[in-house]
Amino acid sequence: MVVMSTSSLLRSFGLSIFFLAIVAIGALVSWRSVLLHPAPPGQPLPTLPPVVSRTFGDLRVHLVNTGWVRVKEAHRELQGSEALRFPGILLARDWTEFMPVYVAVIEHPEGVFLVDSGLSEELLQQSHFDCDPGTAFVYSHLLDFRFEPSQRIDQQLNALGIDTARLKGVVMTHRHADHTEGYGYLPSSVPAYVGAKDWPTHNGALPCRWPAERTPILVPEDGGPALEAFPHSRPLTKDGRLAIVPLTGHSPGHLAVVLRTGTESIIFAGDAAFNVRQVREHHLAGIVEVADAARRSLEILEKQLIEYRSILVLSHNPELALRFGEGQPTPIGL
Ligand SMILES: [Zn+2]
Repeated sequence: MVVMSTSSLLRSFGLSIFFLAIVAIGALVSWRSVLLHPAPPGQPLPTLPPVVSRTFGDLRVHLVNTGWVRVKEAHRELQGSEALRFPGILLARDWTEFMPVYVAVIEHPEGVFLVDSGLSEELLQQSHFDCDPGTAFVYSHLLDFRFEPSQRIDQQLNALGIDTARLKGVVMTHRHADHTEGYGYLPSSVPAYVGAKDWPTHNGALPCRWPAERTPILVPEDGGPALEAFPHSRPLTKDGRLAIVPLTGHSPGHLAVVLRTGTESIIFAGDAAFNVRQVREHHLAGIVEVADAARRSLEILEKQLIEYRSILVLSHNPELALRFGEGQPTPIGL
């Protein structure tokens, strides 16, 4: 029987503690890269037209790309347990390609309306998030942006020859920063429409960066007449061709916009889905705040696409934007 002396026991115990401490320090230093899988460098940006435009009689619509974002694959498409979707995204390994961030510019005889306001250069600066450490953590680990100053919405409107004095309003599909940060570059007289349930919530939004002097027009998730497949609507123009429709789930007060051209309806559905397959299969994206509402919204969108002659535009889907530009119907039945 081997009996260790007290001093050798203490020595080996001390060595074990020493090695454990080294491992713990190493894990602390590298846990973010080990557990949270930062976006890999060097991925090229896709080649896409900066603007896709179409004319429908006296209406003209432009989809302008206000920057690029990539996210975890588990953010774009739910993987695994619905209940564990948020930690699942945080710990997921794979990132998507860079996706465009479209803003719709709708020229109507009554004025120009925007759906969302896109990125700004501030989103590339960590200090922009200093006022909100929780959101800073989310953005630094779950989203990766690219942006050129010429992509900012005020620059794009200028390039399109659209005077910002003609702007009548911006419909914020939701308050995530890639959809809202261009707003501060538009004249302060331009009202923003925000889902009533999105205004007090915080997730993914940067309330501390909302222009302080601007109070939005809040749009409730119910009330207002049905419009085609949408249970509720709020007209934006006197002729009723342009309307806001609540389409909740991605955020509690998520909004969409419907433009009826006379021959078809164009649905600007924000982040209600990332692709048509999710609409067809009612398959949730990974990042949904209210899962039941998000599923219901996919059913409404599917009904709209099948029963009404409709063209779907999603904030981050380049294929749908190109199809829109070519006048091709949305392939809901494939
Ligand atoms: Zn988005």
